[in-house]
Amino acid sequence: MVEEESGIPHWLFGDQLGPHFLDPARGGPHRDAPVVMIEARSVLRRRRFHRAKAHLILSAMRHRAAELGDRVRYVKADTYREGLREAVGEGAVTVRHPTSHAALAFVRALTSVRVLPASGFLVTHDEFRRWADDRGTKHLRQEDFYRWVRRTHDFLMEGDSPVGGRWNLDHDNRQPPPRGATELGVPAPYRPRESDIDAEVRADLDRWSRDGDVAFVGEDAPRAFPATRREALAALRRFVEHRLAMFGPYEDAVLAKDATMSHSLLSSSLNLGLLDPAECVERAEARWRSGGAPLNSTEGFVRQIAGWREFVWHVYWYFGPRYRESNALRHREPLPDWFTELSPDAIGANCLTQVLGQVRATGWTHHIPRLMILGSFALQRGWDPRAVTDWFHRSFVDGYDWVMVPNVVGMSQYADGGRMTTKPYTSAGAYIDRMSDLCGPCRYKPSVRVGEDACPFTAGYWNLLHRHRERFAHNARMTQVVRGLDRLPDLEELLEQERDRRY
Ligand code: FAD
Ligand code: SF4
Repeated sequence: MVEEESGIPHWLFGDQLGPHFLDPARGGPHRDAPVVMIEARSVLRRRRFHRAKAHLILSAMRHRAAELGDRVRYVKADTYREGLREAVGEGAVTVRHPTSHAALAFVRALTSVRVLPASGFLVTHDEFRRWADDRGTKHLRQEDFYRWVRRTHDFLMEGDSPVGGRWNLDHDNRQPPPRGATELGVPAPYRPRESDIDAEVRADLDRWSRDGDVAFVGEDAPRAFPATRREALAALRRFVEHRLAMFGPYEDAVLAKDATMSHSLLSSSLNLGLLDPAECVERAEARWRSGGAPLNSTEGFVRQIAGWREFVWHVYWYFGPRYRESNALRHREPLPDWFTELSPDAIGANCLTQVLGQVRATGWTHHIPRLMILGSFALQRGWDPRAVTDWFHRSFVDGYDWVMVPNVVGMSQYADGGRMTTKPYTSAGAYIDRMSDLCGPCRYKPSVRVGEDACPFTAGYWNLLHRHRERFAHNARMTQVVRGLDRLPDLEELLEQERDRRY
């Protein structure tokens, strides 16, 4: 490892806020290197972000600057370029590998900037490339990658075998919500207390909005996610000690009155760099080893971090900058205003009303509402995958380019034609009915596909299958359901209804 010179300033991005990003032993800058942070207003001006997201990022950056004290030069500028000029002139600067293609291209184009290795992930770019190239296949599968990570990092292993003898305990997980329950009944997740810095951020956001300089979607509310390392560690501790045990069985279940269920709510802290994924996995494993959590919950959580999160990060880089433009299904419909404006009451479908309401209030909802309600609806309606990606990116507190592109383009919109998943993730209303309490009060009926009561998801599902019948019929995992189209006596009626239906 090359030891950096102490005098070269290090530019810290807003999603590189944990101590590991500055650790020289982990590829970071010299321990005495001055730090530069740049708050660029143009980023907020370019897109309409959720207010809670803008607040969280600015709060986290300003809290980190306060912690670093005299070591940091914190510049508020219009653009990164201007901020950098103000901070270091034409002088040399180091920076950690940024987290988006655009940011990487930007720093690489600046001759004075030297890019240090990425941090905040378990596997390096070179290791992933070797793993992927070795597979010699067009399709990369998360499950294979996850097992390889478990082996190479010795997570939940006994010698060469997974603890308990099985890699995958999904069979014990993914249960519907407990019958009749309106809440899961687990202790509430950690919530931070706001500081003076939050008050300053709120005043700035109010002023910029009043001046017409920036515009937001979503509600302003007390900050709900950690902005400091201390808060993030408290959130991790609370999850591991009080909520992990119930994570597995109900990780896919949805209850209208319990938005968080037993989820960790750690995504924003991980993506801001406040937590390191290894420490999250290790603490969960330690909890299981001490008898404090069952294996199915622990394995389910470890799979999310060491499997999915890590896989998504590497897919983003491995597939390259043009992956975001994929549109295998040629979907081009624009997003309706009620969706982009997060107006939950504009639509009669209770599932969408509830979930959009959660996003509006907090900038967060858990995985199944993202995938099987918001994403599934967009896929069924044929919305443009790039616009859907942009919407998710702007509306979620944990949304960053690297994580949104694979999750939306690949996983939720099937726009890559199956490079990342074996089949489209979408369903008729019956799945939502089984996994949630949302259908009972809805004006539609999940079992009905034609007429006044027709569930938009049920009708939309068959409509989507019909639209892409030829492509899906060639997918071994879809052949059976595509054949189901032939057994629908009212297919023509359904297609006509969906052609005319406006949401
Ligand atoms: P938990 O359910 O407690 O899971 C633990 C951790 O696993 C999460 O904190 C997260 O870091 C990680 N994780 C699990 N699945 C994924 C995944 N598919 N991709 C990346 N990390 C994962 N996650 C984001 O971090 N940012 C996003 O912008 C984002 N957008 C998504 C968009 C769509 C359409 C879909 C289907 C998923 C998206 N996800 C995203 C993944 C996942 O839904 C969220 O990470 C999770 O809901 C965050 O809540 P949590 O921290 O309570 O997660
Ligand atoms: Fe959603 Fe259909 Fe259930 Fe209504 S009936 S909540 S639209 S899945």
